[in-house]
Amino acid sequence: MKTDFSALPSVDLMLAQPALTALRDRYGHSATVATIRQVLTDLRTELKAAPDTPWNLQQLIGRCEGRMAASAAGSLRPVFNLTGTVLHTNLGRALLSPQAAAAVDAVMETASNLEFDLAKAARGDRDDHIDRLICELTGAEAATVVNNNAAAVFLLLNTLAMRKQVIVSRGELIEIGGAFRIPDIMARAGAKLIEVGTTNRTHPRDYSEAITPRTGLLMKIHPSNYAIQGFTSGVSEADVAKLAHAHDLPFAVDLGSGTLVDFTTLGLPRERTVQEAIADGADLVTFSGDKLLGGPQAGILVGRKELIARIKRNPLKRALRVDKMTMAALEATLRHYRYPELLTRDMPTLRLLTRPAGEIRALAERLLPQLGQALQDHAQVEIRACHSQIGSGSLPVDVLPSACLAITPRVQGRGAGTAMNKLANAFRALPRPVIGRIEEGALLLDLRCLEDDATFSSQLKELQL
Ligand SMILES: *Cc1c(COP(=O)(O)O)cnc(C)c1O
Repeated sequence: MKTDFSALPSVDLMLAQPALTALRDRYGHSATVATIRQVLTDLRTELKAAPDTPWNLQQLIGRCEGRMAASAAGSLRPVFNLTGTVLHTNLGRALLSPQAAAAVDAVMETASNLEFDLAKAARGDRDDHIDRLICELTGAEAATVVNNNAAAVFLLLNTLAMRKQVIVSRGELIEIGGAFRIPDIMARAGAKLIEVGTTNRTHPRDYSEAITPRTGLLMKIHPSNYAIQGFTSGVSEADVAKLAHAHDLPFAVDLGSGTLVDFTTLGLPRERTVQEAIADGADLVTFSGDKLLGGPQAGILVGRKELIARIKRNPLKRALRVDKMTMAALEATLRHYRYPELLTRDMPTLRLLTRPAGEIRALAERLLPQLGQALQDHAQVEIRACHSQIGSGSLPVDVLPSACLAITPRVQGRGAGTAMNKLANAFRALPRPVIGRIEEGALLLDLRCLEDDATFSSQLKELQL
């Protein structure tokens, strides 16, 4: 039987409806007409398959509105990171301070002196906005910034060690997050990796015996996301620096996270600072902007003036340079370090890392009844002690005592897995998606990183279980 489409409204009739006229005013004629056509085409397809499918004008208008709203909504949006990993690479790593966000805002919609020297009315260098500040904070002679730390390591190797040998301990040939592997970066940068020592032990003579006329650089790399324990031995940065300098070679350190404050004064695990690496004789140090530093994605290179100058002359520097938004956020982030007592108050990353377990527990107690009510009889919820992790290349050990809301579906045994996935999906489907972690049969919401609990609570009523 041929389906009769003559009852369907025309595009013009649809456009004449006040709701769709409003859409046209908002999104323009062509996008609105395209959406109406798509909705009508879909309905025809549905009617061909099932001629009795009910429809009405109001419903079609609703579909048009839904589609246009969905296509106007961004894909990249805020979520609640309740995974317990503070610096979560998949969830955007460091949170910027309000000052850093405001600095970005200030240069986005207007012209700025990004590469313009206001005093001399001459061409400037975008690094001018941050290099003095970085040098003041780290004790380095010079600094420059690129897109991320992977780019910083790449540019360093490509500038100082192209067609030369780079000596690295076997215990430091790391892989970070799958795509960043030291041997691969070396090869792409045109440097020849010379592995020395063994996985667990490297001695000073391993380095010295490997030095040849083709050596371009000695390098140490922060093992970041793993630790070697037991019968181990490494060579300190200070000793490798001495060895390099005795042979007139530069010594570089990839610190990975790189922090500017002594973490033990914050009650956190020890982490080598950039200042220490410089003081111990590194000629160049690279570190990330969006790990423990708490700023935007960036790779910061600090070190000796002539080496930084060579790096800045590498034509690839231009391909790896940062945008004004990054510069603005980085400058504002670095400024916080001039006021060390305020760091754990003003810098979100450091504030969350040092958040007292008692405060997190109190938040859990406040939220428990609200969450219990939202879950009704689908799941039960209780408060559990747990451990958060620093994340992003910091040791994956349990060092931050925290508290979580542990949600267990009522369905146990067969079907428990499905019930658990449904539960996790429901939290991810909220207007501001909530991302937890599943562990030992429960969905855990670690509250360490929950500061906007008003938004969290207010959307619980929309949970679709
Ligand atoms: C994280 C890390 C990198 C990569 O830094 P990105 O800023 O993510 O590009 C490189 N080296 C080490 C040791 C790291 O920990």
